[in-house]
Amino acid sequence: MSDWIPVKQARLAESAGRPCEIRGWVRTRRDSKGGFSFIEINDGSSLGNLQVVAPGELDNYASEIQKLTAGCSVVVRGELQASPAKGQATELHASAVRVLGWADPETYPLQKKRHSFEKLREWAHLRTRTNTLGAVMRVRNQICQSIHRFFHENGFLYVNTPIITASDCEGAGEMFRVTTLDLERLAKSGGPVDYSFDFFDKPTFLTVSGQLEGETYATSLGRIYTFGPTFRAENSNTSRHLAEFWMIEPEAAFFDLADNMQLAEQFLKQVFSECLQCCGEDMEFFDQRIEKGKIDQIRGVIDQPFQHMTYTEAIKVLESSGQKFDYDIAWGSDLQAEHERYLTEQHVGGPLILTDYPATIKPFYMRVSDDEKTVAAMDVLVPGVGEIIGGSQREERLDVLSQRMAEQSLSEDDYWWYVDLRKYGTVPHAGFGLGLERAVQYVTGMANIRDVIPFPRTPGSAEF
Ligand code: ATP
Ligand code: MN
Repeated sequence: MSDWIPVKQARLAESAGRPCEIRGWVRTRRDSKGGFSFIEINDGSSLGNLQVVAPGELDNYASEIQKLTAGCSVVVRGELQASPAKGQATELHASAVRVLGWADPETYPLQKKRHSFEKLREWAHLRTRTNTLGAVMRVRNQICQSIHRFFHENGFLYVNTPIITASDCEGAGEMFRVTTLDLERLAKSGGPVDYSFDFFDKPTFLTVSGQLEGETYATSLGRIYTFGPTFRAENSNTSRHLAEFWMIEPEAAFFDLADNMQLAEQFLKQVFSECLQCCGEDMEFFDQRIEKGKIDQIRGVIDQPFQHMTYTEAIKVLESSGQKFDYDIAWGSDLQAEHERYLTEQHVGGPLILTDYPATIKPFYMRVSDDEKTVAAMDVLVPGVGEIIGGSQREERLDVLSQRMAEQSLSEDDYWWYVDLRKYGTVPHAGFGLGLERAVQYVTGMANIRDVIPFPRTPGSAEF
């Protein structure tokens, strides 16, 4: 039987005195003049390493231990003792150090020197062995767990919506095509594409959102959420867009826009506060090394009610801001990232929910308001990132929905099942989409979205 414990637990003061086994990767080794070595071990369970004290008497001391370098994998047995050193409560006095795998220091990329995040993306298979990326992925995991917990506690059912879809839905972005047709043969033949030969008998794509399918479940099961991969082939090389990302989409029957906004606010606050509670050490790290003051900022967000503003008010604020923007702003035009960030960062200095956007810039399914010019849409903007949530109350009136589809040249035949929801027992309902990576970016303060997903997919890049 093994008495393995994770480094996280071994580092606790109350673990002193216990015999145990540690399994992990060497971060550094330092030989003391006293004839023993200090080895820092990390196993991914915490930001902090465990310091191992390896005495010169160990039989593989000269043959192996003194050759350990960053990246080697080891199993260490010994007894935890209170440590006299600063910054650690315990250290492990080794009785045996077994080397499982070597890491040639001539070629192992993660040497002591600091690497840029750009450089680390080239080693995405190894980069979670660094402090920052390890911390990001632990926080990402916590956010996912908290999301599931929040919805479970609030009576939302977890629904898996399809990844392959035939509806070019809602124009949310460019789509990736899914096909088994032989593209090279097609190109040679020069003829038109006959989709009856394709796998699904018609053009199909990777989903840009699970919302439409989500609505079918909300209008039978009441409250649901989806949490899955989402694909957008938009050719935007920005710090907040990925071609493949994860989206969380709650949808609730009998919800109006006010309910929807309240849900989004409670949801974000609970997720953020669980990050502070459960990832304290990692959050301290982000606070000190990535974005100064992050923890206080998040505490402020949890304590304060979110600010609200209509699109029309936002346009007025932007017009009278005296700011120079790259894109001009006028009622009816879509807000750009620079406008969103001005509003949330400069004007409000915290999260902001923008509502009531012009109908002309929003998809057909958003509910048309009494003024007939705007729709019951809401975006949640946060400092540093901009939009993290986009949502709306949905159009539940059959005649209005039909008219909106006609205006946007969408065929009701293609969306027959979606339209059916308005024919049979229609109800008011609402929902939103949260980009998981944008949430991780906000919580950690990481500047680039490519550093908060394990293997980023972006234009021209699908390594790993
Ligand atoms: P943006 O205007 O920032 O491009 P959007 O309005 O196209 O986003 P929605 O269709 O409203 O996005 O999607 C809901 C949420 O999904 C967004 O609020 C955002 O958090 C996230 N999201 C959208 N596109 C991407 C992307 N390419 N990469 C990562 N997250 C995204
Ligand atoms: Mn949006």
